[in-house]
Amino acid sequence: MAHPSAGLTARQNMILEELNNCADEISGQQLHRTLLEGSINMGLTTVYRHLRTLQQKGLVRCRNLPTGEALYSPVSRDHHHLTCVDCGQTFVLKTCPIKNLELSKEQSKGFEMLFHTLEFFGLCKNCNQQ
Ligand SMILES: [Zn+2]
Ligand SMILES: [Zn+2]
Repeated sequence: MAHPSAGLTARQNMILEELNNCADEISGQQLHRTLLEGSINMGLTTVYRHLRTLQQKGLVRCRNLPTGEALYSPVSRDHHHLTCVDCGQTFVLKTCPIKNLELSKEQSKGFEMLFHTLEFFGLCKNCNQQ
């Protein structure tokens, strides 16, 4: 369970907790549906607004698939994906290949680092054979 983060509203905490409960990334619409199933009535626009705020606070990351779909996950989860550009099939990498990578002082410009993203794209075996 996610501990409530400081400076978040109850609803933002709810969304963050829902993302933490999800084994994998989730779209805004899926999240909206999950909240409804848990009897939390939040409009889709509101869900997206809260997701945006959580992104701005560095707590949630968003990944855009080649299909245009946006998927959300908590930044505390260091997951990366391998995606087929043709069929859109996506796999989670078992480990983070850049876990210990750090930017030099000059490159990081005094930023407090919150998270990174990394994605691999290619053609899966099936699509490659066609
Ligand atoms: Zn494919
Ligand atoms: Zn990583």
